[in-house]
Amino acid sequence: MLDPLFLWLLLPLGFVLGWALRRNMASQSTHSLSTEQLGGLLSQLESDDPDRAIAALTAVAELDPSTVELHMTLGRMFRKRGEVDRALRVHEALVARQGIAPSLHDQARYELAQDYMTAGVMDRAEQLFAALADQGKYVTVSLEAIRTMHEQARDWKPAIDAARRLEAAQGESQRAAIAQYFCELADEARREKKLSEAIRQARRALDEDPGCVRAHLMLGELNEADGEFAAAAKAYLRAFEQDPRFLPDVIEPLRRCFEKTGDREAYLQFLADAREMSSSSLPILAEARLLAEGGIDPFEHLAQGLEARPSRAVLADFLEVLERQPNVIASGLDKPAARLREALVRLMETAPRYQCSHCGFSPRQLFWQCPSCKHWGTTAPADDIMKV
Ligand SMILES: [Zn+2]
Repeated sequence: MLDPLFLWLLLPLGFVLGWALRRNMASQSTHSLSTEQLGGLLSQLESDDPDRAIAALTAVAELDPSTVELHMTLGRMFRKRGEVDRALRVHEALVARQGIAPSLHDQARYELAQDYMTAGVMDRAEQLFAALADQGKYVTVSLEAIRTMHEQARDWKPAIDAARRLEAAQGESQRAAIAQYFCELADEARREKKLSEAIRQARRALDEDPGCVRAHLMLGELNEADGEFAAAAKAYLRAFEQDPRFLPDVIEPLRRCFEKTGDREAYLQFLADAREMSSSSLPILAEARLLAEGGIDPFEHLAQGLEARPSRAVLADFLEVLERQPNVIASGLDKPAARLREALVRLMETAPRYQCSHCGFSPRQLFWQCPSCKHWGTTAPADDIMKV
């Protein structure tokens, strides 16, 4: 019984065999295949023995260099079906072979580099990719591969170098990605409690990409941690201006910072701007909180908010205020209202908070590189307004 996965390997091998048979019949060349070799190929295909099939294919390839491409394809297929050791053997043999065309030799080196990358032998993979790029061969794909490997290893400085080389080779801006790498360096410095280094790296991110929301947010957080509340508020506001979808991530930090600076007017102005620039219900909640702090019942405000921008959060806060209304308590409806609110809160606690605009992945927490599609900076807070 043949392994089903092996069956699809038979297809290209069939082509090779067909080629070999045609060649054997059409040519009286001294390089034609012997009957024994053809018989050997057939029996190896039948016996489900890829190693011996490869050996037979190697024998075919040695008779005529034009089979090198087919051999390369076979190796690539081994890699794709997870048999990296076999892919490595095929491509290593091709790279070591003398007398094949330079373009095919380069292709074999590129395939081999990919095999090493798949096998996790990153230093060998990088050496081969770098050599190819230095020689002007497979430049863009090799530099892209080097960048990906450093991203996966979280080696941000070499990733920055690779992205810069890629930018030069490709002519396409890599600045948004480079800014993300500087943010990663800033994050590392922050984890090591090196605040000034973290601020320096976040600023370098903004030198690369002034629209980098992540760098603005990080500068807000770093300045706030450092007690620089005015500078923190400025950075949080910049993050919001760059992308109003990030309102959920800045609204509470801005409330804290403006409270520290005592600049109530600036906070009210921000809430008014937020209402203009974002469709979120969060400004309504913040205004309701201000009313309550001033001793004013926010019931009406939340009721209007529920109509204008219905969201689970507004409904939950509205129910909380409703539960406390004397006529609701008197009618005994406060308890069902409380149960409804608790159910809503549980729903909010499990609902996705973010969404990747590239692939739709919806996590609870913010990832600057989407874990699903690997794109940088495509994940933002999800819209909180209920659609009817
Ligand atoms: Zn994604």
